[in-house]
Amino acid sequence: MIIGGKYNWKGQPERLIYLGKNWSGNGYWHQFAEVGSPEKVWCEVLDDQLSSFEETPHDEADDVCDVPPIGWRCTRAKGHSGPCAAIEYSEEVASVARGMRRLKEAPNAGIQRASPASGEAPLE
Ligand SMILES: [Zn+2]
Repeated sequence: MIIGGKYNWKGQPERLIYLGKNWSGNGYWHQFAEVGSPEKVWCEVLDDQLSSFEETPHDEADDVCDVPPIGWRCTRAKGHSGPCAAIEYSEEVASVARGMRRLKEAPNAGIQRASPASGEAPLE
């Protein structure tokens, strides 16, 4: 397992971060924290229980808080507690506007054309 990697109990919805094998009270335990509160140990397991964990498939949408509207980004993890730490992200709005304008100006811009064979006239 990789420290800082994302894991979960097989078949369970909690998304966990592996904190490593750390001394805790009476011995060394493999510690996991929930993704939403990575500084807090959520569970501790022994070596033979590690097989009950699997690596969480990476899904970027899982990492990012999706509460703020477009034009804003929250810098906290998805599902965080408390208010959003939203920052203005005007670049996003600008790039969406740019994209829309480009679509209007060149309606076929997104269509990939094979280059015409030599001797043939281009389609337009
Ligand atoms: Zn948020």
